[in-house]
Amino acid sequence: MDNVKSDKNKGVQSSTLPWFKEGLKFECQRCGRCCRGEPGVIWVNKKEVERISSFLGITQDAFAKYYLRSFNGWCSLVEYGNGDCIMYDNGCKIYDVRPCQCKAFPFWGSNLENRSEWEKLKNTCPGVDKGKLHTLKDIQDNLKTYEGRFG
Ligand code: SF4
Repeated sequence: MDNVKSDKNKGVQSSTLPWFKEGLKFECQRCGRCCRGEPGVIWVNKKEVERISSFLGITQDAFAKYYLRSFNGWCSLVEYGNGDCIMYDNGCKIYDVRPCQCKAFPFWGSNLENRSEWEKLKNTCPGVDKGKLHTLKDIQDNLKTYEGRFG
C-alpha cells in the first residue's frame, strides 16, 4: 500500500502531468487509515520540529525526546509497536502543523503517475475524488515542494 507512511515517493515529474489537467478532487476524511497500522517513516526537519513543538507548547528538546526517532541518519516521528503514528489519537493531533510528507499526500508523484494509480488509491484513502477540487497549478506546486524535499 502506498500511503502517507510509505517512503515510496518517486514517480511522475512535475513537468509531465497531462491526465489531471482539469484538477483532482481530494478532501481528507480524517479516517486515519494512512496514519495507522503499517510501519513506516514520517520525516521531520528542523523547521517542522520548531513548528510542531511550538504548537504542542513544549520545548524542542522535549519534543525530540518523546516524539522523534533517528532513522537512517534522519528524524522521523515515533510510531507505536502496532505501527500507529504517535500523533494519531482519533484524528491527527497536529493536523494544522503536520509534516510536509503528510500535507502533500495524496499528491505524490507515485500516486499521480497515471489515472489507474490514482484510482487504486481509493482502496486505501476515502478522501480521493471527494470534496475540494485542487487545480493543476495547486497540484504541480504541491508536487514541486514535495519533490524538492524528497524527490
Ligand atoms: S481520508 Fe485519506 S488522507 Fe485522510 S486520513 Fe483517511 S486515508 Fe489518510
